[in-house]
Amino acid sequence: MKHVYGFAENVAETHDERKSILGGKGASLNEMTALGFPVPSGFTITTEVCQQFNRSHNYPEGLKQQVESALTRLESATGKRFGDAKNPLLVSVRSGAAISMPGMMDTVLNIGLNAKTLLGLTRADHERFGWDAYRRLVQMFGNVVGGIDHARFQDALEQLKSERGVSADADLNQGDLKELTLRFEALFVAELGQAFPQDPEQQLWAAIDAVFRSWHTPRAVTYRKINAISRDVLGTAVNVQAMVFGNQGETSASGVAFTRDPATGQRKERGEYLPNAQGEDVVAGLRTPEALDALQQTMPAVYAQLQDVLERLERHFRVVQDVEFTVEEGTLYLLQTRAAKLSATAAVRVAVDMAQEGLITQSEALLRVQPRQLAQLMHPSFDPQHPETVLAAGLGASPGAASGRVAFEAAQAERWAEQGKDVILVRQETSPDDIGGMQAAQGLLTSRGGFTSHAAIVARAMGKPCVSGCEALHVDAKAQQLSVGDVVVQAGEWLSIDGGTGEVFRGQRPLVPAQLDACAHTLLSWADGVRRLGVRANADTPHEARLAKALGAEGIGLARTEHMFFAQERMALFQQVIVTRETSQSASLLQRLGRFQQQDFEGLLEAMDGLPVVIRLLDPPLHEFLPKTASELERLAQTLHLSEATLGQRVAALQEFNPMLGHRGCRLGVTHPQIYEMQVEAIARATVRLQAAGKVPQPRIMIPLIGDGREMQFMRHLVSRALQRVLEDASTAIKIGTMIEVPRACVCAEAIATHAEFFSFGTNDLTQMTFGFSRDDAAKFLPAYKDNGLLPQDPFQQLDQEGVGQLMALAVERGRQGRAGLGLGLCGEHGGDAASVTFCHQVGLDYVSASPYRVPLARLTAAQAALSPSGESTP
Ligand code: ADP
Ligand code: MG
Ligand code: MG
Repeated sequence: MKHVYGFAENVAETHDERKSILGGKGASLNEMTALGFPVPSGFTITTEVCQQFNRSHNYPEGLKQQVESALTRLESATGKRFGDAKNPLLVSVRSGAAISMPGMMDTVLNIGLNAKTLLGLTRADHERFGWDAYRRLVQMFGNVVGGIDHARFQDALEQLKSERGVSADADLNQGDLKELTLRFEALFVAELGQAFPQDPEQQLWAAIDAVFRSWHTPRAVTYRKINAISRDVLGTAVNVQAMVFGNQGETSASGVAFTRDPATGQRKERGEYLPNAQGEDVVAGLRTPEALDALQQTMPAVYAQLQDVLERLERHFRVVQDVEFTVEEGTLYLLQTRAAKLSATAAVRVAVDMAQEGLITQSEALLRVQPRQLAQLMHPSFDPQHPETVLAAGLGASPGAASGRVAFEAAQAERWAEQGKDVILVRQETSPDDIGGMQAAQGLLTSRGGFTSHAAIVARAMGKPCVSGCEALHVDAKAQQLSVGDVVVQAGEWLSIDGGTGEVFRGQRPLVPAQLDACAHTLLSWADGVRRLGVRANADTPHEARLAKALGAEGIGLARTEHMFFAQERMALFQQVIVTRETSQSASLLQRLGRFQQQDFEGLLEAMDGLPVVIRLLDPPLHEFLPKTASELERLAQTLHLSEATLGQRVAALQEFNPMLGHRGCRLGVTHPQIYEMQVEAIARATVRLQAAGKVPQPRIMIPLIGDGREMQFMRHLVSRALQRVLEDASTAIKIGTMIEVPRACVCAEAIATHAEFFSFGTNDLTQMTFGFSRDDAAKFLPAYKDNGLLPQDPFQQLDQEGVGQLMALAVERGRQGRAGLGLGLCGEHGGDAASVTFCHQVGLDYVSASPYRVPLARLTAAQAALSPSGESTP
């Protein structure tokens, strides 16, 4: 069994296979080597070894020998020897899983250095560099292998710098670095009770062990959880690679470059580098690096070569690449390439641009953008009507606007977020340990680190606003405050950040809703061209309807009428209707209510002129409309000329034990037909009026909570009669259908469909009733279900396909038996969830209806579902 592959060995045919065997990093090193790019030699231990190691804490048979012989080959390729005093080979030991987890697992550089090999590494003019490499080894090895807190080393470094009176690492001379190494070694002994190992073999295997183990560090586990990466997916590979040194003086450097701008998507390489530094310095955000343009000035030849490399890499992979490079005394080396994590804005722009450049097809462009990124694009921005003075400015590292309370620690951010507070996490720089707090925060702000710092990369991937490298900011986490000049902001105070411009403001700034940019419109127009599933919106007001239409909704899938009753004056009228016993009185009250409703319907139908508008008749329990306070009761009693006692009795009679399973929906239509009649007549009148004005209103009438064929038949008669009273013109056929939200309706769908022209799955209630989970109380136990692996997802967010979905499939089948050409839609919250929309496509619905801001997501998801052969959209 082969466990080790050289970078130059052919491993598998496809990129995906290579990735699953070698991990992402190993696969990219292998592939770049094959393409002739300048990659330092090395070899990869497969992901499969990690699985075995994690299971049995043992390595497979023969691994030792395979690593030994790979190392021997590496020695002959480089002409250096591991542990050699004269010309020592140094290697890095690097993790790399099949799924990209940037910065989540560990890497150790400069393995093979010890007191003896140091002499061979450093000729007379290079002694400073040797000690710099050595102290980094002790530091990284101590942290990754020995588990010594990173901060301990950092403190020792700061201590020495202040003793020497210098501020930058680069100002420490060779003697200082030697002293630092000794202090690091002493720290190592003090913490671990043993000396730093001098034997290169021992260093190598300890590092390999540690990298395999790093698969289970809490931060790696949290990362996989946040990104919904399955627990048992593969493992990490280990890459052992000959070191190249970016810290050999001013003609050396380390950097990161993107083939296009990962924040905006602009077609121009973007990146940054640090002169005289090893790679981890750039991502760690310890120093704020220089923009790539500066490299053009200082090393024009290297810059030109890098540009060429970046272009070729992108043409080869056809995806924006995120590339690590090192320049060793004027020679360029590539250390990694991977698909770049793009902001939502950039993902859309790049997809559209690449398709227009002919690099990918339109279908590929559609499959590349994640539906949730379209929801992120709908994030609001600061209201330009309310300008604010800028407190400080850094790099706009991840677009979007956010306001929140300042938290200086990740744990604090998590606690506040749990209490429902908006948080801006402010750090000098973030580290992978902050991942939970970053997820909890609305936005991220760092005083150090550049465009490729940990904070910037993670924020773009999470779709959160981020301002990085805001150097004017003095962050004092110990004192729980930050300052800019004499302005001091304490923990808990409000701060606002604009991750597009890099600006930071004091206080909370008002937001305005986002608009889709031209690229998003283009992409969505392609989506509309391929999708089969229709997309409508849930909207109750003309304002929402217009918004939804602008975002591409093809009608309203659910207009709820109850909101129309809650305005002050109408509420009073309606309360009278439900407690009065005098028919004549209630008839005139209803007439007045009907006039209000007619105006509401006219507004909605006009906003959606020519498109279907599904209006659901009154649904909530009567109980919700009853007077709640003593003074409300008193006022109502006066209006109705009733004693408070009499009214109190009538109100008490309408109280329910279990309102959500009580006197609501079509049951109201049965006990109080005059209410539904009033609503239907108002719809009909609104239709007639708009038609007279030359419009094309398309109302549909939807009955809530039907669970039985006879019930539907009863309702249909009631609605038809009411329609006929208003519409003499028989050509105005208004379709009558039902919401499917009671499990029984799914079973009895055939009988129901004989009286209904359409079904719309109300999956909020259908989920609630199928599980028997009260939606309003589920928050108390659903988290425990998730933690115990009893439910993979919150079924109120993502449709439960095994249960609720099967009921839907049954209803579709039986419904069609009852009526050929039955209309089928969905109007629960699930209409805005990608996995649920995909399911709707597969089960053969005609449309989904989502909240307006989710309409773009639904359009794209529907297109992806139509494009992928299995009908499944990409994650
Ligand atoms: P991560 O996955 O966290 O980026 P890497 O394995 O890529 O970890 O390594 C961390 C840093 O060390 C990177 O900047 C990388 O470029 C640098 N590095 C890794 N191997 C070498 C090497 N052989 N020579 C020089 N620098 C290296
Ligand atoms: Mg890397
Ligand atoms: Mg309902």
